[in-house]
Amino acid sequence: MSLFNIRRRDCLAREGTYAHGEREVRTPGIIDIPAFFPALDRETGTNVPLSASAGFVSRYQHPGDGSPVVVHPLGKESVASGALVVVANWHTVLSRPHDFIRYLTTLKGKIQPDTAWYAPASALPSTVALLAYAGFDLFDLRAVDLETARGSFCLAEGVFPGDLAGSETCTCEGCARGDIGRHNRLALERELALIRRFIAESRLRDLVEARCRSDPHQVAIMRLLDGEEALLEPCTPVARPTPFIATTSESLRRIEVKRWGRRLVERSPSSIHEVAVLLPCSARKPYSTSLSHHRFARAVRGRAHELIVTSPLGLVPRELERVYPAAHYDIPVTGHWDREELALISSVIAGYLGRHPYRRVLAHLEGGALEAARMAADTCGIPLEVTAEGHPTDPASLTALDAALEGERRRPADVVRGVLAWQFGATVETRGMAIRGRPPLERVEKGGRTLFTIDARTGLLRPTFEGWALIPEGYRVRIDAFTPKGDILAPGITSADEGIREGDEVLVLGEGLSATGRAAMGGPEMLRSRHGVAVRVRRIKRE
Ligand SMILES: [Zn+2]
Repeated sequence: MSLFNIRRRDCLAREGTYAHGEREVRTPGIIDIPAFFPALDRETGTNVPLSASAGFVSRYQHPGDGSPVVVHPLGKESVASGALVVVANWHTVLSRPHDFIRYLTTLKGKIQPDTAWYAPASALPSTVALLAYAGFDLFDLRAVDLETARGSFCLAEGVFPGDLAGSETCTCEGCARGDIGRHNRLALERELALIRRFIAESRLRDLVEARCRSDPHQVAIMRLLDGEEALLEPCTPVARPTPFIATTSESLRRIEVKRWGRRLVERSPSSIHEVAVLLPCSARKPYSTSLSHHRFARAVRGRAHELIVTSPLGLVPRELERVYPAAHYDIPVTGHWDREELALISSVIAGYLGRHPYRRVLAHLEGGALEAARMAADTCGIPLEVTAEGHPTDPASLTALDAALEGERRRPADVVRGVLAWQFGATVETRGMAIRGRPPLERVEKGGRTLFTIDARTGLLRPTFEGWALIPEGYRVRIDAFTPKGDILAPGITSADEGIREGDEVLVLGEGLSATGRAAMGGPEMLRSRHGVAVRVRRIKRE
């Protein structure tokens, strides 16, 4: 009996434990295959090359029965929930990025998510972060032992000639004894411990972006993987508890950035303003807590829709400034935007302005942000009124901004309407609603009834049952005829909205009861899993 207990997810990566019989191992981690599965080494047909033809695979590949099951991109194996999935020869695609992606999308597409993935003879301290990021959970010591036999010294930074051993680059017990083999194994263990920590903090991407630099193949794999939205987007959480570190050119291609841009264009409700003003971002988040934005607010006084131009998100409407990752990203500020950055950012601005026909668009910007705004305005064929003279916070600039808005109607930003649209894709009438209290205990009330509470960490809204009544569709999970005692487990779910992502607020509907809670996995994974917590329940109501 095998059981893969996933404690935390970070896109394709999972942190937890894999158990078989009496034995248990942490994941991502090293599995002692001879101890767990003594027969596996003696099996034949478990080592078919990934590039083998369908005919070869059907003749020579033996998937085994139950767990572990040896899989192949062209195989017709059936895999049970909780099984150990063995993908042989994966080390051969670490230097073939297109094959890596092709085989990975095929395998992940056909095998259910609640299975533990083992890549034999593939993990080195310098490659294992990428392997875990791609959704492999278990590894062995064969690849590092092979490097030891070659006399190589393995670090997370790469594979080095053996003369680096004993040169004070490492102080592990292996190095102290002059034992490279011991060092190489410990280096892999240490890297895996670090990976588990990064997954638990929902920031494995940061580690992978750092680790892959010395190997062009790894950078290529990461970039190609970013293009596989059908694979990655459903398992990318809607919000994370940690800052969004955008320090590389790949940051622009992260799912979170693409999702932000797409939701802005597809979900934003029609603006309550006829005039828009494009403003620069601030290092301090949310922007409105910064000194510069205090000054902008005094000049604008609600007479225009405030849209903040920023990298890598492109555009942040004022009402969304607290929503993840708008209040959570960190970038190196140099004042310089490269061509690629300009092109991506201006396309988000153009997409937004194209959907919202403002009577006037003011650009209170300078430098790269102004250039991006100009490119977007050109694309849309709209005139741009530039109000900044020099730096946007210069008194002359602020006076010009104030004067440009003379006579325009004042309307405050509608945070609740904006966030509900971004989060649930619903346009909700918010007349009579007011935000009460202070962070972290803010709530949205109407007529003395609480409709939503505001999650101070993510800026997202948590609907009460009365709040859910305002959101007509989507984000629903239906369960079998049972009364949940606490969290909802995946096997009890009969249907789940496709659009649900980890971290989303959901409404659970059962026979004679409903519940509010937060999704612990995406909607598609809820339906494909037979194990694990799917919804963390906050409140249950019996009818
Ligand atoms: Zn060492």
